[in-house]
Parts: sequence; C-alpha cells; structure tokens
Amino acid sequence: MIDIQKIREDFPILQRKVYGKPLVYLDNAATTQKPRVVVDSITEEYYSVNANVHRGVHFLSQQATELHEGSRKTVRDFINAQSTNEIIFTRGTTESINLLAFSFGEEFIKPGDEIMISAMEHHSNIVPWQLLSSRKGAVLKIIPISDQGEILMDEYQKLFTDRTKLVSITHVSNVLGTINPVREIINIAHQHDVPVLLDGAQAIPHIKVDVQELDVDFYAFSSHKVYGPTGIGVLYGKEKWLEKLPPYQGGGEMIQSVTFEKTTFNELPFKFEAGTPDYVGTTAFAKALDYVSAIGIEAIAQYEHELTQYATRQLKQIEGLRIYGEAADKGGAISFLVGDIHHFDLGTLLDRLGIAVRTGHHCAQPLMQRLGITGTVRASLGLYNTKEEIDILVAGIQRITNMF
Ligand code: PMP
Repeated sequence: MIDIQKIREDFPILQRKVYGKPLVYLDNAATTQKPRVVVDSITEEYYSVNANVHRGVHFLSQQATELHEGSRKTVRDFINAQSTNEIIFTRGTTESINLLAFSFGEEFIKPGDEIMISAMEHHSNIVPWQLLSSRKGAVLKIIPISDQGEILMDEYQKLFTDRTKLVSITHVSNVLGTINPVREIINIAHQHDVPVLLDGAQAIPHIKVDVQELDVDFYAFSSHKVYGPTGIGVLYGKEKWLEKLPPYQGGGEMIQSVTFEKTTFNELPFKFEAGTPDYVGTTAFAKALDYVSAIGIEAIAQYEHELTQYATRQLKQIEGLRIYGEAADKGGAISFLVGDIHHFDLGTLLDRLGIAVRTGHHCAQPLMQRLGITGTVRASLGLYNTKEEIDILVAGIQRITNMF
C-alpha cells in the first residue's frame, strides 16, 4: 500500500500554488518532479565532495568516483543487468538512441539494410534512424498500429526480410499509453537473429523492467522521467553487442592510449563515455532509483494502474470527450480531445485552473498523422497523483466545455 500523503510531502513543489490555485501536476510523461533526497544529494555533493572522477589520486576524486560508479551499480540492479559494463551513462533517452544509431550503424548497416520502428514512436526514436538511413543508404520500415493504438503483430512479423538489421520500438507510448508486448516482439526479432532496442523512457518510471528477463539487446531511458535530475540517461546494451560497436564520441575518459598516429579505446562502459560525466547528476539519479525501489516499482505500477482506470472512467463521463489510445494494456498517459475544442485552448484554460497538462503532438507527428489529428491534450500520471486531482481535472474540463 502506498502512503500517498507521505510521498507528496517528499516533493516540495507539489505544495506550490499557480494562479492562486493548488498545483495539479499531470505532465509526468514530459518530466517528473523531484523528491527532496534527489535535490539534497546534488547540493551535498557539490558542497562536500566535488572533484572530477576517474583520473584523480586525491581523496575527493576517489570519493566522487566511488559515488559515480556506485550509481552505475544502482542502475544495473534497478534493471537487473548482468554487469555494470552494460550501463552507459548518457544525457538522456535521446542521446542513448543517437549513440546506438551511430555506433550500430557504423558497424552493421550497409546500403539496402532495413531498420524497423513502429508508427507510435517519439521523434527521438525516428529521427536518429532517418539520419542513419540517409548516411548509410538504409531503409526504415514502419510497423503499423490498430485504431486502439496497438502494434499489429501479424504485420510486424511480415516486415522481416533477410536485410532486417534492427528493431527499435517504444516500450510504453508517451501518447497512447500503450504498453507494448515487448517480450513477444523481442522473441520474434530473435527468431530472425535481429537485435531489439527498446525506448524505455515511459516504462522505467511505471513498470518493472528486467532486461535479462526481457532478453532485450539495448534499452534506453532518462533519469528526469523517473524522479531524477535532468541531463542523465542510460543506454543498456548486452556486453556481447557493446563490445562489437565502435565509440560514439572521442575525447578524454574513452581512451586507453593516444598518440598522434593511433588511439586505443578504453574498456566498457567507458569506451562510450567521452568527457567528464555529470557525476553529481548520476549520484542524484541513483537516489531517485533508490527512492522508487523503497516504495516498490510493483506497488507504484499497481497504484498508477488503479489511478489510470479511475481517470479513464471519469473522463469518459464528459460529453464529447474522446480518448486516443485504448489498448488492453495501458500505462498512465491519457490523450484526449473534447468536441471541437482545440487542444491548445483546452490546455491553456486548464492551466489557469492550476492544472498542468501537455498539449500538441507530443513529439510524435507521424502518430498524429496516423490518428488524423494535429494534437491532443495529455494528462500523464506519476506516483504522487491522487484521485482528488483527477476529480479536479474532470471538473475543470467540464467547466471549460460548458463555456464553449
Ligand atoms: N521516448 C519517449 C517515449 C519519450 O516520451 C521521450 C520524452 N518525451 C523521449 C523518448 C525523449 O526523452 P529525453 O527528452 O529525456 O531524451
């Protein structure tokens, strides 16, 4: 059982008022708020430990390195990776996917090779593959989805050819909330000897992710969506794959030795981590993961599931409200439109009531085209949201629709 009031006290920002109204923060898919332990960790490390990691013999540098590498272990345990060599720190999901698109592309993609993504991807799981395709002459294949917002599994199977080199798909959709059947998606890809990258940006905060159980080859996610600081992300990769891939960026940290004639690269995971990492951020990120683990990701998933079902039921009572994304297995992102009210107008008026939602295409323009709309209003839930907040949202929408 989650003690929601106690949790809310951990997040000072939730006490804020906007326009004189209590803040109702329903934009968690964009970014989550931070508990005090995370923010305190940043201040404490800058005040008492700060030193550059890895290279120093002095006390502070060693302590900072221990914290930074300790965070890598926390991430490893959180997703149940086999080794810390498989945890690469990046700036976020976007950089993780760009890293893989570059390095995998350099090693494995030849003209005419195919990469598969789905129709429900975020731009950050589309554009890096397009860049790779134009660089290498590869072909992007798109797995279609149903009107409910589910991957069409038969169509997916049919898209495989002997040129398919990688499947890259979102674990949970940031627009539709769909939790994709990733186990099955991975099994099918593996039957064709094709590796899979999952974009886990919207999964990690909400459901248990076990990379070994999934047998996923690569997994990308961001700290700021799981109650951690901005500017940190992770690319998980199976060691057997990462060993084969060339570096993404060059610089300090990622080398073993450098002469003007030749450079040899550092071992995993440092081969992919050029330059000074955000070591203060990684410590705070680990605190965020510890915070989530202390509550329990299963308990969070259960609570958010109930809240999503409640929100969906209540929203459906509103006349003229249409929900986009009605998959059987769904996380806490709820996209909707009401009557012919523009999503931007609805979002702006909700904001005046203290309710933070997101409007627009949610960085998924091809999905909007598939749905035949220009955008939606999206309410997305986090572990600190309550039924009372859903009631405020529903009452707010009702009030606004009465005005139109
Ligand atoms: N993928 C999905 C599904 C997302 O929701 C987001 C963030 N909206 C991203 C990728 C990109 O994450 P970031 O901006 O943290 O790199």
